[in-house]
Amino acid sequence: EVMSRETMRACLDVLERTEIPTLDVTGGAPEMNPNFPWLVAEARRLDRHVIDRCNLTILLAPGFDHVPDMLAESGVEIVASLPCYLAENVDLQRGDRVFEKSIRALQLLNSLGYGQPQSRLRLNLVYNPPGSKLPPPQAALEEDYRSQLRRRYGVEFNGLFTMTNMPIGRFLEELARGGQYDEYMQTLIGAFNPAAAAGVMCRTTLSVDWTGRLHDCDFNQILELGLAEDLPQKIGHFDHARLARRRISTGQHCYGCTAGAGSSCRGTIE
Ligand code: SF4
Repeated sequence: EVMSRETMRACLDVLERTEIPTLDVTGGAPEMNPNFPWLVAEARRLDRHVIDRCNLTILLAPGFDHVPDMLAESGVEIVASLPCYLAENVDLQRGDRVFEKSIRALQLLNSLGYGQPQSRLRLNLVYNPPGSKLPPPQAALEEDYRSQLRRRYGVEFNGLFTMTNMPIGRFLEELARGGQYDEYMQTLIGAFNPAAAAGVMCRTTLSVDWTGRLHDCDFNQILELGLAEDLPQKIGHFDHARLARRRISTGQHCYGCTAGAGSSCRGTIE
């Protein structure tokens, strides 16, 4: 699944004729797309904020050693998943030595100015709770991460985004296998927060998949849930006025965004 340059061009054309402020690029590993540096350069030329959702380990992979400098020179914000500040928990979730590589990548980014006080280079981390729990309060966990990562590894970062595990994809399979689906949905529904519902990310963002198809959010994209049928379906048919007031395609999984303090691509909503 590799987005073509033509599809990227269609995204850039939309940026050029609208005032959409941010291009948020995610994967897999978006840095592996051969046109990624071109996409970043073009979006920055349009003076748009660019976010790279980075898995960190790619920054140390052979053939990608130019990427950290390119990101820093372009002023790209990095949002990176680090499910815990303890090696054993990360390796258990993500695989052997992932924690050690992630820390090395964070130290490399810090050496380029990322996450440092006074620097314009933003480095944010993402936390997902293990299993079927809701995330703990974001501000307190951010302080734990900050003190632990600083003391143990000398790592600095700007912010921590806590995200609720959405009942889709692999996590949904896990819940089903463990007979926990109903219980998890009751937890999400019981924690419904109208204030969080008012700020769900689909109200201000649009997802473009690798083929150029539009979705209300990343989660709908994973579920292959497209926009409502009467709306433009591909980025090449983008119509700002119609899409800005669109009716969003929702489902049971949306309770993941509205539980507790809410959950979005920038952490809690409230
Ligand atoms: S999962 Fe539902 S509520 Fe959350 S962003 Fe997507 S469409 Fe909106």
